[in-house]
Amino acid sequence: MHCKQVRPLLNALADGELNFWQRLRVTRHLRGCAACAAEAEVIRQLGAEASAWRGVTAPNSLEARIAAAIAANPEPAPSSPTLASDRRSHSQEDPSMHSPSAAPFAIPRSLAWRWQTLVVGLVVFALTLTVCARVYFGHSSLRGLEVVNWLFSDQYLVPSESMEPTLMGHEDRTVFKDGHDVLEAAVHDVIRVDQWAYRHATPQRADIIVFKAPPGADQESLALHQPPKENTLIKRIIGLPGDTIEVKPSPDGSRCLVYINGKPLEEPYIKEPMDKDQPSIARFATQGPLVLKPGQYFVLGDNRNNSNDSRFWGVLVVDRVLGKVTGIAWPLHRRRSFP
Ligand SMILES: [Zn+2]
Repeated sequence: MHCKQVRPLLNALADGELNFWQRLRVTRHLRGCAACAAEAEVIRQLGAEASAWRGVTAPNSLEARIAAAIAANPEPAPSSPTLASDRRSHSQEDPSMHSPSAAPFAIPRSLAWRWQTLVVGLVVFALTLTVCARVYFGHSSLRGLEVVNWLFSDQYLVPSESMEPTLMGHEDRTVFKDGHDVLEAAVHDVIRVDQWAYRHATPQRADIIVFKAPPGADQESLALHQPPKENTLIKRIIGLPGDTIEVKPSPDGSRCLVYINGKPLEEPYIKEPMDKDQPSIARFATQGPLVLKPGQYFVLGDNRNNSNDSRFWGVLVVDRVLGKVTGIAWPLHRRRSFP
């Protein structure tokens, strides 16, 4: 607070009419500002002299009766203006209060327990809750607004295995491992999806997204001559608008690779190398280069050999994107955040 703001409040301060926060700020200013402190002292002394003078000429005045009541009963009534009556009663009997060492602006306890205390309490409670949440959700993966994100983001169950091993989703199954069949119990990761992620940013390569698939993606219904459903799918963005995409065998012929603008794409996240017969069963970007127009994306599953993705039903239009997958929420041992 500046002196200009403090000066008009000094009278009210002397009369005990400031609220808790005003009183706190004014007294803090007075501690550091000799000029205002002197002014406050003058006002206090004037007030004390005035009340003393009034006490002499009108012994039956309200001040005199309050002073007498306080002298008779040292515990002040809770509703009385504590500061003002203190000041006036002291002025009639205690000259020592004129010394600067007296504390005329002490905060009465009754004032401190008002609604302001409730607000402070709630703020402290909220901070405590936040800290607990940070500890619980693991500080290392938790960035600034992660708790807010977590509170306001959607949670999805991963329905299929097309994004394994990044996102697990399968029913009970037997897999052939180390020479014999192994039973794997069903698992469906719960993922967090940020619906606001692409409101002010465009999708980036390698983002994992949730989207409403085009009707052509529902191969099962189409095969049964039923109206296709627009299922919600999860895939990784591979091609961006303007890219030229081609899926073709690697130079050594051992597997298939994704080529973006003629360069093979490094994909550390995929489950296993793409089968070299993939081009023969897929239609898009496998029979020749595919150029993405504005607003078009090419999406693929990390489980590249078990994924119904852009290779089979074509490009994804940006309007169909529902959100960005920001992390795995459940199970706990797989909990993590994606960049
Ligand atoms: Zn000042």
